Amino acid sequence: MTFRIRVPEVITLTEYDRVPSNAVTFSRRNIYKRDRFTCQYCGGQPGSEELTLDHVQPRSRGGTSTWENCVLACLECNKRKADRTPTEARMPLRKAPVRPTWKPLYARHDVRIESWSKFLSEAYWTVELDE
Ligand SMILES: [Zn+2]
Repeated sequence: MTFRIRVPEVITLTEYDRVPSNAVTFSRRNIYKRDRFTCQYCGGQPGSEELTLDHVQPRSRGGTSTWENCVLACLECNKRKADRTPTEARMPLRKAPVRPTWKPLYARHDVRIESWSKFLSEAYWTVELDE
Protein backbone atom coordinates (compact mmCIF):
# COMPACT_ATOMS: atom_id res chain seq x y z
CA MET A 1 0.00 0.00 0.00
CA THR A 2 1.38 3.40 -0.97
CA PHE A 3 0.00 6.64 0.24
CA ARG A 4 1.29 10.11 0.45
CA ILE A 5 1.14 12.51 3.32
CA ARG A 6 2.51 15.91 3.97
CA VAL A 7 4.64 15.99 7.06
CA PRO A 8 4.96 19.47 8.46
CA GLU A 9 8.42 19.82 9.90
CA VAL A 10 7.42 22.91 11.75
CA ILE A 11 4.45 24.98 12.72
CA THR A 12 3.20 27.07 9.82
CA LEU A 13 3.52 30.74 10.45
CA THR A 14 0.87 33.24 9.59
CA GLU A 15 2.88 36.36 10.26
CA TYR A 16 6.15 36.08 8.40
CA ASP A 17 8.09 38.73 10.24
CA ARG A 18 7.17 37.68 13.74
CA VAL A 19 8.89 34.35 14.10
CA PRO A 20 7.89 32.87 17.43
CA SER A 21 10.70 31.48 19.50
CA ASN A 22 9.13 28.02 19.35
CA ALA A 23 9.02 27.90 15.55
CA VAL A 24 11.22 24.85 15.10
CA THR A 25 9.51 21.65 16.21
CA PHE A 26 11.15 20.02 19.18
CA SER A 27 11.50 16.64 17.52
CA ARG A 28 14.07 13.90 17.55
CA ARG A 29 15.08 14.65 13.96
CA ASN A 30 15.63 18.32 14.69
CA ILE A 31 17.71 17.57 17.76
CA TYR A 32 19.90 15.25 15.67
CA LYS A 33 20.13 17.97 13.06
CA ARG A 34 21.02 20.66 15.59
CA ASP A 35 23.71 18.54 17.20
CA ARG A 36 24.94 17.31 13.79
CA PHE A 37 24.78 13.65 14.78
CA THR A 38 27.55 14.33 17.26
CA CYS A 39 27.78 13.26 20.89
CA GLN A 40 27.82 16.52 22.84
CA TYR A 41 30.07 15.05 25.51
CA CYS A 42 32.88 13.26 23.68
CA GLY A 43 32.40 14.65 20.17
CA GLY A 44 32.03 11.16 18.73
CA GLN A 45 29.90 10.48 15.65
CA PRO A 46 28.98 6.84 16.04
CA GLY A 47 25.91 6.98 13.77
CA SER A 48 22.27 7.59 14.61
CA GLU A 49 21.75 4.04 15.91
CA GLU A 50 24.32 4.64 18.63
CA LEU A 51 23.10 8.07 19.65
CA THR A 52 20.56 8.80 22.34
CA LEU A 53 18.80 11.83 23.72
CA ASP A 54 20.32 12.87 26.98
CA HIS A 55 18.70 15.17 29.51
CA VAL A 56 21.47 17.47 30.73
CA GLN A 57 19.70 17.95 34.05
CA PRO A 58 18.34 14.43 34.53
CA ARG A 59 14.58 13.94 34.26
CA SER A 60 14.55 12.18 37.59
CA ARG A 61 15.81 15.41 39.11
CA GLY A 62 13.36 17.79 37.53
CA GLY A 63 15.04 18.20 34.14
CA THR A 64 12.61 19.06 31.36
CA SER A 65 12.46 17.93 27.74
CA THR A 66 13.37 21.19 26.11
CA TRP A 67 15.85 22.42 23.53
CA GLU A 68 17.98 23.80 26.33
CA ASN A 69 18.06 20.57 28.33
CA CYS A 70 18.37 17.87 25.67
CA VAL A 71 21.49 16.92 23.77
CA LEU A 72 22.73 13.98 21.77
CA ALA A 73 24.93 11.57 23.63
CA CYS A 74 26.52 8.35 22.44
CA LEU A 75 25.49 5.21 24.30
CA GLU A 76 28.77 5.14 26.17
CA CYS A 77 28.57 8.72 27.42
CA ASN A 78 24.89 8.34 28.27
CA LYS A 79 25.69 5.29 30.37
CA ARG A 80 28.65 6.96 32.02
CA LYS A 81 26.78 10.14 32.84
CA ALA A 82 23.72 8.28 34.11
CA ASP A 83 21.60 10.28 36.55
CA ARG A 84 24.10 13.02 37.12
CA THR A 85 24.58 16.58 35.92
CA PRO A 86 27.57 17.27 33.65
CA THR A 87 29.35 18.89 36.60
CA GLU A 88 28.82 15.90 38.88
CA ALA A 89 29.86 13.51 36.15
CA ARG A 90 32.77 15.75 35.13
CA MET A 91 31.55 15.57 31.59
CA PRO A 92 31.32 19.13 30.33
CA LEU A 93 29.14 19.81 27.30
CA ARG A 94 31.01 20.83 24.19
CA LYS A 95 28.54 23.67 23.76
CA ALA A 96 25.41 24.80 25.53
CA PRO A 97 22.24 23.47 23.87
CA VAL A 98 20.01 26.16 22.41
CA ARG A 99 16.79 26.35 20.45
CA PRO A 100 17.60 26.39 16.74
CA THR A 101 16.80 29.48 14.73
CA TRP A 102 16.34 27.92 11.30
CA LYS A 103 13.98 29.60 8.87
CA PRO A 104 10.85 27.53 9.42
CA LEU A 105 8.89 28.64 6.36
CA TYR A 106 11.09 26.67 4.01
CA ALA A 107 11.27 23.54 6.09
CA ARG A 108 8.18 21.80 4.74
CA HIS A 109 8.70 18.75 2.62
CA ASP A 110 6.78 15.89 1.13
CA VAL A 111 7.49 12.41 2.23
CA ARG A 112 6.44 9.37 0.29
CA ILE A 113 5.26 6.73 2.66
CA GLU A 114 5.34 3.16 1.44
CA SER A 115 4.13 1.26 4.43
CA TRP A 116 2.62 1.77 7.81
CA SER A 117 5.84 0.79 9.54
CA LYS A 118 7.71 3.41 7.54
CA PHE A 119 5.07 5.92 8.48
CA LEU A 120 5.54 5.05 12.12
CA SER A 121 9.27 5.40 11.84
CA GLU A 122 8.80 8.75 10.11
CA ALA A 123 6.58 9.80 12.99
CA TYR A 124 9.26 8.64 15.40
CA TRP A 125 11.57 11.24 13.90
CA THR A 126 9.19 14.11 13.32
CA VAL A 127 6.66 14.02 16.11
CA GLU A 128 6.86 16.89 18.55
CA LEU A 129 8.22 15.60 21.84
CA ASP A 130 6.50 16.44 25.10
CA GLU A 131 8.14 19.29 26.90
ZN1 LIG B 1 30.05 10.31 23.70
